[in-house]
Amino acid sequence: MRSVKLLCALLVMMLLLCLPAAYAEPESPAAESGGSEPVVRVGMYIRTHADTRRLSSVLTCDAGFEIGRSDGTNFLPMITVSSKRIVIVPLLNMQIDYDDEYAGAALGEGNFGAWSVKNGLYGGYYSARAAGDFAAVTSKGFESRFGGFSTEEEARAHDAGRGISSPAGDRMALIDADTQKMILTYEDRTKPLALRGAGGALVSLPMVSFSGSWYIFEYPGFFEFEANGGLLNMVNCVGLEEYTRCVMANEIGGDFTKETRRAFSILARTFALGKKHGRQGYDVCSRPDCCQCYYGVYRMGDENNEIVDSTRGLACFYKDEPIAVLYTGANGGASCSSVAAWGGDEVPYLTTVFLENDEIEESARWETTFTRRELYDHLSQRSVFSALSDMDISMRVLARDPYGSSYITTLSVSDGAGHVVEINNSENVRMATGFSSANFDIEYTQDLEVLTADGKVETRRVYGVLTAEGYKPFTGFDESYGGGEYGAAVAPDKVTVRGVGSGHGVGFSATGSEKLSLEGFDFRYILQFYFKGTEIKRLYQ
Ligand SMILES: [Zn+2]
Repeated sequence: MRSVKLLCALLVMMLLLCLPAAYAEPESPAAESGGSEPVVRVGMYIRTHADTRRLSSVLTCDAGFEIGRSDGTNFLPMITVSSKRIVIVPLLNMQIDYDDEYAGAALGEGNFGAWSVKNGLYGGYYSARAAGDFAAVTSKGFESRFGGFSTEEEARAHDAGRGISSPAGDRMALIDADTQKMILTYEDRTKPLALRGAGGALVSLPMVSFSGSWYIFEYPGFFEFEANGGLLNMVNCVGLEEYTRCVMANEIGGDFTKETRRAFSILARTFALGKKHGRQGYDVCSRPDCCQCYYGVYRMGDENNEIVDSTRGLACFYKDEPIAVLYTGANGGASCSSVAAWGGDEVPYLTTVFLENDEIEESARWETTFTRRELYDHLSQRSVFSALSDMDISMRVLARDPYGSSYITTLSVSDGAGHVVEINNSENVRMATGFSSANFDIEYTQDLEVLTADGKVETRRVYGVLTAEGYKPFTGFDESYGGGEYGAAVAPDKVTVRGVGSGHGVGFSATGSEKLSLEGFDFRYILQFYFKGTEIKRLYQ
């Protein structure tokens, strides 16, 4: 979505010269539900990029940490520690690389032993720790422990009669990464462990960005950890407004008009209310291609924060339910209907909307040209096309969005051996072909050497050939024509795919919103333009 930067800068300058009335600050009606700001539970996808589980996590905060429990939305404080870097692992023997800023760990006997010796219950964390090597937080209270041993034999040798504690993948160990000393083991299964920066400081942790590279991002709120089967589940609990600021910083940036950004802030907030991952124990995930980009405060700026404040508490509803939030950078002037994209029943506010004269920026256009061999190579490495065995590939568009957008809903791909693969729904078409969107046209051409009237040889690009039956345009690679002006039998040797936009094309379009806002329409109009029949409500002040 940041591809429209230059145009937007120009548009913003034009806007400043001629500020329409619609740009007045939005009014602040009383909260319609009288509620309070909810907490968003963000499932943190770090290592696998597919879920919240990981073997180890390292959190950094120069102010130190508060360690406590979580009731799902609130941090219940327990102790404050001065440790600046805390490694969290399930309570199992392992090798931890404390010097690695990502605190890589591997299961097995290593420098961290999970066996310990029990040393009695104490009234508080500090007294339990002072009586032994560290404290274990259990559902009964604070237990003093000696440890950590890698084997049962070692633990038994140190047992003074109070018993030993064995490794368990459903408990956790918190270790100071700098001193490599155990801070505590968390063995209370009644509530998840919670950590946050002391005094409200941000917490840093390594994240894999969408591009696959590692970054250290800073996060607000508190982190919740649960160990299960030897892996940690990690959730960041953050207020809805702060979550919206974080998403704005990386999903839309600062180059769009204020009304587009206001509209977007309401969508970003509404998305969280939809609780897409509710069944998995969190509301949304941090992964940009699944939910919304959540890189903490990275790239956060005052202007976008003020925009979020100006729409505080506002969210978009259809019949009292938060709408399914779908947005895209550009759709070419007509949004793809949800039926075209995924099939299923009509969603009344996700049918196609048309924006007249929506100028398609060059940056939103894409084009790929293949030779016949290249097209075969491109498609045949995708599992859905594994049935194709012959290089003579032909792609045909059989249907487009029934609501009138150009997104392709049925694509037929065949080869010279008679195999045919038919793809339905535009999102399947996009995924199967690997093209940026399913909003594309296909053109077949042949470059031919021809003899001109004055006897010169020239290369001409033809889009079809003349035959005895007249001119025939190329419609696919499996058709070739003999005779005609050029004498020899020809088959098209190039296919050019020209498309617009990237992604599904359903719902809000950022470039379309820019056009509307420059015509003087405000964020309310823009949202109701893209999501027909919906209502914007203020949930809290
Ligand atoms: Zn997700």
